[in-house]
Amino acid sequence: MDHARPLPEYLIKRYQGWKATTYAENSGWYRRLAEEGQRPRAMVISCCDSRVHVTSIFGADQGEFFIHRNIANLVPPYEPDGAQHGTSAAIEYAVTSLKVAHMVVLGHSGCGGVQGCYEMCEGRAPELEERSSFVGRWMDILKPGYETLAPGPDPERLQQLEKASVLVSLANLMSFPFVEQAVTAGRLTLHGLWTHIGEGGLEYWEPSEAAFTPV
Ligand SMILES: [Zn+2]
Repeated sequence: MDHARPLPEYLIKRYQGWKATTYAENSGWYRRLAEEGQRPRAMVISCCDSRVHVTSIFGADQGEFFIHRNIANLVPPYEPDGAQHGTSAAIEYAVTSLKVAHMVVLGHSGCGGVQGCYEMCEGRAPELEERSSFVGRWMDILKPGYETLAPGPDPERLQQLEKASVLVSLANLMSFPFVEQAVTAGRLTLHGLWTHIGEGGLEYWEPSEAAFTPV
């Protein structure tokens, strides 16, 4: 592999700082984590967006969350077609091997992936409709969410679609037989969340009200 290069200096400095402080003060705990393996209680599926920081908003340490990030926190439908499905593999491992008790889908405000889907559905993003667009084909997962939007101004509909991305993912999760079985047996609970980045807000999907409700 001839193309990889050493880390930039600022990252080396940050690593060395972490090793000398956070790691040095907790090395016994880190060694125990290494020896005992991971036993996370929850899996989180969140967006790749650099502003979404689930370990920070829940004050979680190493070992607590099994995290999978992809564009727009999407779970594809169950498709056992022999192809390579990264998100589905992470879900299968979390549920069947790690046996997590909670599965959290976390959406967020200002999601670029959701906006891309919105523009594509509005006919304003032909580049995303190209067969070769990885982002476009990935965002096809959210198209059923677009069909549920109420009429209104674009910013409101965009936020509706961000929340719909959570609901589409929750619905698709239940199409995986091992998820459906674990939920039915009471071993696994699904949760839908949406965070407002600028305000630090957090809302959860409340099925009895069929609405996102502030935490
Ligand atoms: Zn996003």
